[in-house]
Amino acid sequence: MLTRPPYDVVVVGAGVVGAACAYYATLAGLSVAVVDRGPVAGGTTGAGEGNLLVSDKEPGPELDLALLSTRLWGELAAEPGAAFGGEAGRGTGGGFGERIEYEAKGGLVVASGEPGMAALRAFAEGQRAAGVEAVEIAGERLYELEPHLAPGPAGGVHYPQDAQVQPALAAAHLLRAARSAGAELRLGETVTAVRTRPDGSVLGVTTDRGQIDVPAVVNAAGTWGGELARLAGVALPVLPRRGFVLVTEPLPRIVRHKVYAADYVADVASGSAALQTSAVVEGTPAGPVLIGASRERVGFDRTLSVEVLRRLAVQAAALFPVLAEVAVQRAYRGFRPYLPDHLPAIGADARLPGLYHACGHEGAGIGLAPATGLLISRQLTGKQPELDLSPFRADRFARS
Ligand SMILES: Cc1cc2nc3c(=O)[nH]c(=O)nc-3n(C[C@H](O)[C@H](O)[C@H](O)COP(=O)(O)OP(=O)(O)OC[C@H]3O[C@@H](n4cnc5c(N)ncnc54)[C@H](O)[C@@H]3O)c2cc1C
Repeated sequence: MLTRPPYDVVVVGAGVVGAACAYYATLAGLSVAVVDRGPVAGGTTGAGEGNLLVSDKEPGPELDLALLSTRLWGELAAEPGAAFGGEAGRGTGGGFGERIEYEAKGGLVVASGEPGMAALRAFAEGQRAAGVEAVEIAGERLYELEPHLAPGPAGGVHYPQDAQVQPALAAAHLLRAARSAGAELRLGETVTAVRTRPDGSVLGVTTDRGQIDVPAVVNAAGTWGGELARLAGVALPVLPRRGFVLVTEPLPRIVRHKVYAADYVADVASGSAALQTSAVVEGTPAGPVLIGASRERVGFDRTLSVEVLRRLAVQAAALFPVLAEVAVQRAYRGFRPYLPDHLPAIGADARLPGLYHACGHEGAGIGLAPATGLLISRQLTGKQPELDLSPFRADRFARS
């Protein structure tokens, strides 16, 4: 007698991207298991910041993904409890948005001089044509938005759509909602192989606890997405891009938006392995101000770099002089899942039927998680995705 596989899909990875995949796949009626070798958000999700940014993205596929995600984060935040049945309304109290510390606070990009302002203006113009809300603010009016900003900037652009969540809470509550609708969470379990049928399609996964037969596997292994792909016999060049974040002592609300200098955008887009720092400053509901983040490709080196922390602190104090007097409580680091063209891998892998990728989101995985999860669920259920997924194909590197 043929036995039915226990699940329709196994999601490998319980970071925010795997959580969003599980959430939307369960919502679409699929039977889902999430397998992670560690705890929920134990990978990069627990070491990220939580900016949901459209402001730093130029027109193109990543911005389209970010705009879709912005809408989805807003819808999720508006859910009265967990999004479906089960535990809705119970638990930690408050709506979904409150539980994940969602704040639609907006972003403010500041240019120190006229040349920077001209470049920022042109960048915002292109974004507006692509559907981004971007409002130019004259230098003297910046203080109405951010009273503690340093004197003298030439101007800035206000991005009302930028928002923020607490990433680990976001992953946990998405998984909680998925579980309440039937998904299974298998933590402390490592996927060691992806098994295939003679016809080359996915048969299932092997873990350190046994075998799971399943027709669809979602690679949401973040920075380790390349290793998971390798287990399935396909190449995907995901590399770690290290970033440090400084956390200050709790403060009253002195920083109201997500604030950063215009040169941050160039750092994000750079493919250089060398160190780049340009501070993004944001307050949190709990009080500490987060100052992120550096970018460098140094493998999985966890060594604390005082030089990086110093540069971040100096840049943050240049934006907000009041921060020069504030104590830093701690610093942490994480490894962004970097792909060479800065775009994630999302969707079915044409080389291995049954394998889907949802990884490689670099410094934007928190922001892009819901759109990724929704698009993967569309493919899993044979529906038309909201966006053209071809720019995110995993085999694009092999082809080039
Ligand atoms: C300093 C810093 C600041 C950042 N700031 C932001 C920000 O403000 N906004 C934003 O959008 N993004 C930000 N990011 C990026 C963001 O954190 C990542 O893009 C995102 O967390 C990736 O999530 P993920 O679910 O893909 O990966 P992860 O959270 O790393 O999850 C992958 C999971 O897969 C599991 N796994 C791997 N291999 C296996 C296996 N073989 N078997 C079982 N489990 C496995 C791991 O244990 C891990 O839990 C930042 C990153 C850093 C480092």
